[in-house]
Amino acid sequence: MAKHQFQTEIGQLLQLMAHSLYSNKEIFLRELISNASDAIDKFNYIRLTDERLKEIDWKGEISVKLDKEDNSMTISDNGIGMNEEELIAHLGTIAKSGTKAFMENLTGDAKKDSNLIGQFGVGFYSVFMVADRVDVITKKAGEEQAYMFSTDGTGEFETKAVTKESHGAIIYVKFKEEEKEYLDKWRTQEVIKKYSNHIAYPIMLNYTTEETEGEGDDKVTKTVQKSEQANAATALWTLSKSDLKKEDYVEFYKTINHGDAEPLTYLHNKVEGSNEFTTLFYIPKKAPMDMYRADYQSGVKLYVKRVFITDSEKDLLPPYLRFVRGIIDSEDLPLNVSREILQENRILANIKQNSVKKILQTIKKLDAEEAETFTKEYNRVIKEGIFTDHTNKELLLDIVKYKSSKEEGLVSLESYISRGNSDKKEIYYIVGESEKVLRNSPLIEAYKKAEIEVLIMDDKEVDEIVTPMIGEYKEWTLKDITTIDAPDSKTDEEKEEINKEFKSLTDKIKAVLGEEIKEVKISTRLTTSPSCVLKDTSDPMAGMAHFFVQMGQAMPEIPLILEINPDHEVIKKMDRLEDESLFADIAWVLLDNAKLAEGLEPKDKGAFASRISTLATRAF
Ligand code: ADP
Repeated sequence: MAKHQFQTEIGQLLQLMAHSLYSNKEIFLRELISNASDAIDKFNYIRLTDERLKEIDWKGEISVKLDKEDNSMTISDNGIGMNEEELIAHLGTIAKSGTKAFMENLTGDAKKDSNLIGQFGVGFYSVFMVADRVDVITKKAGEEQAYMFSTDGTGEFETKAVTKESHGAIIYVKFKEEEKEYLDKWRTQEVIKKYSNHIAYPIMLNYTTEETEGEGDDKVTKTVQKSEQANAATALWTLSKSDLKKEDYVEFYKTINHGDAEPLTYLHNKVEGSNEFTTLFYIPKKAPMDMYRADYQSGVKLYVKRVFITDSEKDLLPPYLRFVRGIIDSEDLPLNVSREILQENRILANIKQNSVKKILQTIKKLDAEEAETFTKEYNRVIKEGIFTDHTNKELLLDIVKYKSSKEEGLVSLESYISRGNSDKKEIYYIVGESEKVLRNSPLIEAYKKAEIEVLIMDDKEVDEIVTPMIGEYKEWTLKDITTIDAPDSKTDEEKEEINKEFKSLTDKIKAVLGEEIKEVKISTRLTTSPSCVLKDTSDPMAGMAHFFVQMGQAMPEIPLILEINPDHEVIKKMDRLEDESLFADIAWVLLDNAKLAEGLEPKDKGAFASRISTLATRAF
């Protein structure tokens, strides 16, 4: 016998399970049954891929046995089992990323927190919400020795060698004194139906009941053993669509998603022909917690002819659809398909292509309310899709939404076009960090005046890279308003004329600002502001943002151009100003103010502040 210390984080987790998470204790059974089912899946896979095991007469089954006298429940499976190292690694010492993420995401609200249990792969420990002792007796398939793992859920656990005839696991749960409800057959049956009805293996509920035989004096009451199947044990996705109701799909979602939440939507498709497969996908109402973690878990399980193959293949769908949950079941892949070659498999590539289209089409058809939820949770990953998935660009562009200078809320590109506010077939946009700054940007003034809609893209990090890649949508060209002439702009000759007229002024300002600015120009886009700054789009770096991102490098700084408004009082007066030092102060303030209006910082904040006070003093 060996004593072991639980790894610290698991110790904390156990404390929490035992004392803080009490709102939804029944889910412990869902978690243990789900582990049993996973273990059977794994054995089933090995059996079908190993010649020696193929012939064995075996059927996956889970048993839940209630013992009223002992105040205990025993959950057994004939799955893959664990050896001693695995017992210690999986249940005792190794901090899985899930454990850490779970602890980080706790809110202190018991109800919300208990919903997190299933999502973070810390299911086994949830048994300590109801138990004060747990024994796991298990033998790994193909090995001789069985082991027992025991713990009372405090700081330590024990392992020792025991005997067990066949492979699989037996989880013995000794309930806390006050937890008696699961000994009631009806109650436990209800919990199994609720969460585990579509676990693909039969769950046999074993219990005892009192039965009376005979009449009058011959009447005897006997305790009899009963065994009943408590779940439907069908792989739901194999049933015909017409036989399934929305409730069935929702119930199955809860089983695979380990939670109570309902999905936003789902799609179930059977494809027949040269490549036969079934898919059942769900879109969660809330984005998975790990969506932006590099070590996110895949949400899609791969089956071949109903046999589970893997749930850790991230390439079944493209990475930007990592929020999708569900199942792919192929009729054509070989059962012994090795997990390594899955990535290059043509059959799988075909399934993937078909699945992505179907998922995107379903998203496109969401009603207004659903679409709003979708956009709130997933707009950013859709943009990731636009960047990476060129095949489905059109569909993704139908789905993505942006803020607008004219409309409330978020608008689609399609609705922008339908408002037809540009006879040039151009979609105007501006990118920056803050919505407020963008809406008040001097660069947008001319569009406001001409009543032309501009998309306000304030997810700078993403939009700056993704939007230039879009190019066109339904023959409409996307235009960054900071790189083009404003509407109602003057002709080229007129512009040249004005530039000539103000040449001495622009040269003088450039001389003051020196290297701070690439060029000073007369603006045709400003109406009320005296100046604005723009990135120099002719700079070779300007169009290469996406290459830097792909190489994982920071964006280089792109030089700025200062534009001044020739119709503004300040500019007109500046042209005639003789006081050199005042001229220099105004030139700097024109630049720093324009930077501030675009959410950029003045180079020297102290100097900026002192110039403002100098100018304020001189104003009197
Ligand atoms: P998760 O199931 O999400 O990985 P758990 O804490 O529920 O998290 O289980 C931890 C691990 O312990 C499982 O991944 C599995 O490797 C192992 N395990 C749990 N129950 C069983 C079982 N009945 N048979 C075989 N292995 C099991």
